[in-house]
Amino acid sequence: MLTDIEISKQATLEPITAIGQKLRLKEDELVAFGPAKAKIKLSALNRLADSPKGKLIIVTAVTPTPFGEGKTVTTIGLTQSLQAIGKRVAACIRQPSMGPVFGVKGGAAGGGYAQVVPMEELNLHLTGDIHAVTAAHNLAAAALDSRLHHETRLGAKTFFDKTGLQALNIDPQQILWNRVMDHNDRALRQVTVGLGNNNGPAHESSFDITAASELMAILALSRSLADLRQRMGRIVLALDTSGQPVTTEMLGVAGAMTAVMAEAVQPTLMQTLSGAPALVHAGPFANIAHGNSSILADEIALRCADYVVTEAGFGSDMGFEKFCNIKVRESGDAPAAAVLVTTLKALKANSGLESELDISAPDTARLHAGYANLEWHINNVSQYGVPVVVAINRFPTDTDEELQWLKDKVEQSKAFGCEISEAFAKGAEGGKALAQTIVAAAETESAFKFLYDIELPLEDKLNQLAQAGYGAAGVELSDKARAQLASLQALNLDKLPLCMAKTPMSISHDPKLKGVPGGFTIPVTELQLNAGAGFITVLMGAVMTMPGLGLKPAYLNIDVDAGGNITGLF
Ligand code: ADP
Ligand code: MG
Repeated sequence: MLTDIEISKQATLEPITAIGQKLRLKEDELVAFGPAKAKIKLSALNRLADSPKGKLIIVTAVTPTPFGEGKTVTTIGLTQSLQAIGKRVAACIRQPSMGPVFGVKGGAAGGGYAQVVPMEELNLHLTGDIHAVTAAHNLAAAALDSRLHHETRLGAKTFFDKTGLQALNIDPQQILWNRVMDHNDRALRQVTVGLGNNNGPAHESSFDITAASELMAILALSRSLADLRQRMGRIVLALDTSGQPVTTEMLGVAGAMTAVMAEAVQPTLMQTLSGAPALVHAGPFANIAHGNSSILADEIALRCADYVVTEAGFGSDMGFEKFCNIKVRESGDAPAAAVLVTTLKALKANSGLESELDISAPDTARLHAGYANLEWHINNVSQYGVPVVVAINRFPTDTDEELQWLKDKVEQSKAFGCEISEAFAKGAEGGKALAQTIVAAAETESAFKFLYDIELPLEDKLNQLAQAGYGAAGVELSDKARAQLASLQALNLDKLPLCMAKTPMSISHDPKLKGVPGGFTIPVTELQLNAGAGFITVLMGAVMTMPGLGLKPAYLNIDVDAGGNITGLF
């Protein structure tokens, strides 16, 4: 079989205006970036405000292996197959971060015959949204450090006399804002800024990957440009010397940050290999951020299509949990059905059993032991009142016997149905059975519910989510987290949903606990207020907000020939 980038290069693309027409978008609502990409103006949403909404299908997965289980492949494949059975459909996915592209996982355009194309444009810069998020985030960091510098140098009174601005009295020990960049750069995890003459005050700081920026979450959760502007002003950058929040609005930088992101707020329209529309927008990771593409893209797509297929990152304990408890709370768009992607190898990896055998080889003992993880995820999705269809993403090494065993097993579970998906190898044809089953599942009456009430005291909320959402005994707060909890409560900023940051490689906080751990206590190391995004980030265990590169990163294989052809992306 050809590689992903070869398949992408051989594809005959339709003009992007023709893709827009499939969604009944007008030509003047599209801003073309070359022949294959176009920004969608938000004016389309105003025009379509009274159109009926289609059904939202959310794609999630079992606890994955580090290489991914094929959620994006299944999202794009299902979109292609729904189109093939005559439905008006669109996919909504996140923009890939360059961290994973050059790191271990590769791109996030799907794969095989289920891809968004051109895949190299999607995986590298697209229309520049991630760069805009990076620039706007770092503008706030520069503004904060500069203000601290000038106020410290001049003193509050002279600062006021010279500028007419009230001093903010930023506490250099209470700076809550760092810097971001879109690479896996371990060396920037801990830094000291403001060193040298006339550059200070010096203080400890850090870099996160851009996917973890609060601005990325704001981009994904805003409902309009005006909403984005308001959220941009609510960001708490630091505390002042009397412990009160210093916001972006107080610093006077929120307007300029919004200006940097004024085009990023428009979703980008692309196409799948079979010419189905795909809206690409925002890129929060599901382990350290909320893991879902934008509400604006979903809203446009739901007004234009009968089915909208979107992906929530990592396992259902991660992106799907945050899709339900954060995104749906903001958007009001409950999913009509969920697709739960599994692979034979993910179940074997989750068995907790050691084996001489390669993970791709047939292995009855490991498959049977690993099934418990799939069943846990079926029950987890079901507790939100969403009908769940299991999609077994077929790999070339899978045997019919193991696939059939798994399908039979799922038929006895709470799942609405189970289909084998061959979208990777066969494109639209390979997912027709899944498409038909999803259409049927989406007809069931909605009984969607949230997992916790945001009005609960913060610690109760945390325990409730840890128990119902992971099967934990509860949480244990570090001294630092406990002090942060007290401060959030004192400032009355605790009635927000939680954005849980933990390893995606286990249902627990510990990547070594495989299968269905249960009964563990989760160490909460830190709480971070994201007042603009509208949630509190909860760091659990040894979770990193800046990934690192491994021994043999994907960039080793990537090159460009003299004709400008990029090779080695996958
Ligand atoms: P996820 O979205 O769950 O992280 P992806 O859809 O990005 O996973 O797939 C992860 C990787 O596995 C990609 O490189 C993809 O091309 C590859 N892949 C997915 N499904 C298959 C399959 N059925 N056969 C072979 N490779 C696959
Ligand atoms: Mg994916």
